[in-house]
Amino acid sequence: MSSPYRRILLKLSGEVLMGAQPFGIDPDTVAALAAEVTAAKETGLEVCLVIGGGNIFRGMAGAAKGMDRAQADYMGMLATVMNALAMQNALEQLGVHTRVQSALQMDQVCEPVIRRRAERHLEKGRVVIFAAGVGAPYFTTDSGAALRAAEMRCDALLKGTSVDGVYEADPKTHPEAKRFTTVTYDTVLADNLKVMDASAVALCRDNGIPIIVFSIREKGNLAKVLAGTGVSTRVEAHN
Ligand code: UDP
Repeated sequence: MSSPYRRILLKLSGEVLMGAQPFGIDPDTVAALAAEVTAAKETGLEVCLVIGGGNIFRGMAGAAKGMDRAQADYMGMLATVMNALAMQNALEQLGVHTRVQSALQMDQVCEPVIRRRAERHLEKGRVVIFAAGVGAPYFTTDSGAALRAAEMRCDALLKGTSVDGVYEADPKTHPEAKRFTTVTYDTVLADNLKVMDASAVALCRDNGIPIIVFSIREKGNLAKVLAGTGVSTRVEAHN
């Protein structure tokens, strides 16, 4: 299936790596996700990846239990590096060349974030996995994803999550809520719709990067969404 995009950033929330487990990394699920990424890459796309850490540790959860917020956030960032390494392993088992670049320097396990080097990796057909978000506490990997999508000049930010798009209200508590096909950045921000955090949405808006929210749990959906046929919500300037 062909795609209108040349280069994308795929953001996966940490939760999708858990599979049916309540916590952590399920290797079979990571392998299945890697297969989805591989199929997308094989269409000729350049792929940047950002993976969250919520399956292991979230700074806010630590802070809620009395931890220092910044310290807890650094732990969350370390969780994203573990997820990045798990995904690197799964992709390389499928024969896909990858590099992990971390916003927190960790020379023994991955490269630091160097934009020009990342550019070269993409040109050579490698998947670049950006870890540790923006490398600063009080941010999330959504902001990391928006930042890397902007600096790597990605044509779209695809947010693969457990729900199949953006709803006018939380579908878990409001089963009648409708899913948007398209929605503007400004509506998302004004109505506080649960897409990504506000700083990430604003960064995408200011740089004209469409956000496509879709369910990564459904097999084959990434390729369909890239081809414009899958179920998703597109966040852009006009609808
Ligand atoms: N985090 C951070 N700065 C960043 C990115 C992540 O402090 O730039 C921390 C933060 O504590 C966050 C955790 O890492 O809760 C895991 O990331 P996130 O919550 O974005 O993961 P996701 O919800 O996507 O699984």
